Amino acid sequence: MTAGHRLGIDIGGTKTAVALVADGSVQAMRSAPSGRGASGVVDVAVRLAREVLDAHAPRARGRGATVPVGACMPGLVDPVSGFARHAVNLEVESLDLAGELSARLGVPVAVENDVKAAALGAWRLRGSWSAGSAGSAGSVAGVGPARGSDDRGGESALAYLNLGTGLASAVVRDGIVVRGIDGAAGEIGHLPVGGDAPCTCGQVGCLETVASGSALARLWPATRRRARDPFAAAAAGDALAGAAVDVLCTGVGLAVQVLALASGAERVVVGGGLAGLGAPLLDGIRADLMRRARSSRIIDVLGLPDRVELLPADVPVAALGAAWLGVPDVPRLAAVASPDASPDVALPGERVG
Ligand SMILES: [Zn+2]
Repeated sequence: MTAGHRLGIDIGGTKTAVALVADGSVQAMRSAPSGRGASGVVDVAVRLAREVLDAHAPRARGRGATVPVGACMPGLVDPVSGFARHAVNLEVESLDLAGELSARLGVPVAVENDVKAAALGAWRLRGSWSAGSAGSAGSVAGVGPARGSDDRGGESALAYLNLGTGLASAVVRDGIVVRGIDGAAGEIGHLPVGGDAPCTCGQVGCLETVASGSALARLWPATRRRARDPFAAAAAGDALAGAAVDVLCTGVGLAVQVLALASGAERVVVGGGLAGLGAPLLDGIRADLMRRARSSRIIDVLGLPDRVELLPADVPVAALGAAWLGVPDVPRLAAVASPDASPDVALPGERVG
């Protein structure tokens, strides 16, 4: 019964969500407000994980084994050491996330940063959440992972752009999160792009200062708002809201262009809290990308408007990605040679037998 089941734990700044996944679809979900501090964070995650397993995979729990678990949270998360650091919103300075969860749940736990896990989840789902339109979120049950290379026969890469309070991003290539030497590969939020807005990182004019929730809050202050939705406010004649969404869509369009050019990802998926703005945001981003295409043949041939997608708010993409952490089913991992295997490489002029 539990063959193929995996458990994904997404510890967010406000909410912790746990998903039981099997055959590429969500079997059960449970969520609660996140705990605070290292022990609070772990307590809530463990409680939810046990609730889901007890309700939906009791035989596995009874044997104390077999459901692989992955977890993600904000901050600097090291998949090798298992430690999470500097998760300010959760009041966690340092936490042995893998060690604590593993000890309490009785299984090895793989861990990752939440945006990187979300990128992995989006890669596995490959757009199966919708027919390409924003705001048409279907049930998460039934969404299935897709594998293999892209339709053009190249490598499969996806860039994920998380528009929350800040701007975070990650790239997944052939099912593997691209990390780089310091785990910062694909993180473009602190790329200075102009303007004079100071950034939380100490630089001025970072991409995050024009393409994020904090950017929107600065450009369209709460004290000036008469509506919640800046696009609706702009349509109703709020000039400040109109200017703010113009900056936002232009900034996100630039972020999409940078990610596509730098990573070669065939798709750029936009998620995070601002994705809840829905179709008007996607339309605004695509309009900006079309404007960029009209001014440059090089950009035009990239077809960026067709490569950007908006993630519906109800797809638990980080929990799904966490569930699939460390799944060794991609060609790159399968090709790793055993220590005593002879190298299967050809030098110039040689043939591999
Ligand atoms: Zn910055």
